[in-house]
Amino acid sequence: MSQPDPDLFDKVVNLSKRRGFVFQSAEIYGGFRSTYDYGPIGVLLLRNVKDQWWRSMVQERHDVVGLDAAIMAPPKVFEASGHLENFSDPLVDCKSCNERFREDQLEDPSICPSCGATDSFTEARAFNLMFLTHAGPVEGAGHEVYLRPETAQGIFTNFMNVLNTSRKKPPFGIAQIGKSFRNEITPGNFVFRTREFEQMEMEFFVPPDQADQWYEYWCKERLDWYTGLGIAPELLRMRPHDADELSHYSSGTSDIEFLFPWGWGELEGVANRGNYDLTQHAEHSGERIEYFDQQANEHYLPHVIEPAAGATRSMMAFLMASYDEETVNDDTRIVLRLDPRLAPFKVAVLPLSKKDTLTPLAHEVFDMVKGRWMSDYDETQNIGKRYRRQDEIGTPLCVTVDFDSLDDRAVTVRDRDTMEQDRVSLDQLIDYLAERLG
Ligand code: ATP
Repeated sequence: MSQPDPDLFDKVVNLSKRRGFVFQSAEIYGGFRSTYDYGPIGVLLLRNVKDQWWRSMVQERHDVVGLDAAIMAPPKVFEASGHLENFSDPLVDCKSCNERFREDQLEDPSICPSCGATDSFTEARAFNLMFLTHAGPVEGAGHEVYLRPETAQGIFTNFMNVLNTSRKKPPFGIAQIGKSFRNEITPGNFVFRTREFEQMEMEFFVPPDQADQWYEYWCKERLDWYTGLGIAPELLRMRPHDADELSHYSSGTSDIEFLFPWGWGELEGVANRGNYDLTQHAEHSGERIEYFDQQANEHYLPHVIEPAAGATRSMMAFLMASYDEETVNDDTRIVLRLDPRLAPFKVAVLPLSKKDTLTPLAHEVFDMVKGRWMSDYDETQNIGKRYRRQDEIGTPLCVTVDFDSLDDRAVTVRDRDTMEQDRVSLDQLIDYLAERLG
């Protein structure tokens, strides 16, 4: 890690735009505030973040299954979950400049951060964060639907479906990745807080007397996930909520926080939610929701441990944590030191020159690697510039096809971090790359 860089935020935002990680939505129309689109490189990085989460939470476990529930849901779901009543932020308006703020985020609740007026705020009022729309051709009562503000409720409403079809029994989990929507009053800090974002959530259902032990387990497991993918431990911390921050049903919540350039910010919350959600849905739906433990011959409502992470927010943390600059031959080299599992491209195939003589062999090499790894092929500009372009999007290995390759059927493989080069024969290339990429 390099020293803390006061310009890190701007540098990452610039790189994101310049290299096609993240674009402002509807930019040709002036942009749509705090809404972003993921470009050709960003979509790969975001997908890798989600794939790594799915791999560790579902694929590599025998006790977690997946789900993909609908984004739209009828009001009853959010009546039961408490979101209709409680999912709100305290909102104040400045009477002087008409800007709106979240009261709990004001540094000084008597001074407007926009125009500097003192004591200019209205009384705080609760502002519900859910997006409301209508299903079908008729608007009005009975046709309302909400866009989910978290993916979790789709898991709770499907609890019995999953229980009855998967043959899992507590302790077991249901994991889901997908979009969520919140009408945030003060979105900002790039993709840190947006109104449309992606979450990676898992609800782990456990016998009530095991809740505390599983809560500890998931706090540690989830923190390890971020460090395992290369975020330096000193950039992460676990922050247990104070008693006055806890929801009434939660007996413990800890946030996993990342040291962003503006300070600590939440990446994920791990919550010990008791049986609140299942109880609420059982009551409001009138359905029987419970687990029958055959051995003990008793029915019970499992307790829930919920690790809830943001995919888009984590992607931003991985970008910030991996961004590095170093001086090479009086020049600044930007390099994203991403774990190869997260890197958008694992391999770039670069013919030394655009001359026709090299093209067939370069295509042959690209064809060898493309089925196995997401790979780039680039023949524009001089080779030095192309190495730098791959460095700044985090490509771990560049494979260069040069004129000697035509004779010796070998290529040069260059390492992103050390810039060291190895000559590798084509018949050993796949094994060599596989070993280097892990
Ligand atoms: P915050 O306090 O930052 O508003 P939260 O505590 O409301 O977040 P949760 O409801 O616990 O967030 O959601 C779980 C995760 O979803 C968060 O840790 C974060 O990574 C992500 N997330 C929540 N809101 C947003 C948002 N508006 N934009 C991007 N990611 C979000």
